[in-house]
Amino acid sequence: MNGADAPTVAVGLPSVERAVALFCRFPGIGRKSAQRMVHHLLRQGKEEVEQLLRALQDLADRVGQCVVCHNLAEGELCWICNNDRRDASLLCVVEESMDLLAIERAGLFNGYYHVLGGRLNPLGGMGPEQLNLTTLEARLRSGQTTELIIATNPTVEGEATAHYVAQMAAPLVARLTRLAYGMPMGGELEYLDESTLYQALAGRRVF
Ligand SMILES: [Zn+2]
Repeated sequence: MNGADAPTVAVGLPSVERAVALFCRFPGIGRKSAQRMVHHLLRQGKEEVEQLLRALQDLADRVGQCVVCHNLAEGELCWICNNDRRDASLLCVVEESMDLLAIERAGLFNGYYHVLGGRLNPLGGMGPEQLNLTTLEARLRSGQTTELIIATNPTVEGEATAHYVAQMAAPLVARLTRLAYGMPMGGELEYLDESTLYQALAGRRVF
């Protein structure tokens, strides 16, 4: 058991305990970190707690899914679908909104996105019906997309998802591409794990 998950003495205040239990549900947050967060809030005072409350309430009330691409949105369309100056011939499929943000940060892609809402994981209860594939197919059938870029993660499930999407999309788009994986910048061959090196070699391009 590592330090973050070590049991700590219960403080005996039900409200504090309840808050700690809720903070523990966040990814990467163990009990100790959750206690630290709750005690930090209590030290900051009522105003700080109420500010957080209002922000959470706004999240619950205002943030939903874009009706076109399933990205997070306040209103019908997300900020990307709302921007008509992007290239409508390019569509990039990602697993989650966080992946979309990562690609946006890279600053190279100027098309639109489709957020699947997860990846295939039959054992974990994620089948094709759980992913946003019907809306993807409908978008492809509308004929605007000439290139579909599949940007699922380089994991076993991400690869399976990519293959599934590729099979569905192949008759509907002219060009089907997959993100190239490869060596991290500054990395050295001898330190790469085999699957990264394999992907780098398999995804090699002409230059
Ligand atoms: Zn959208």
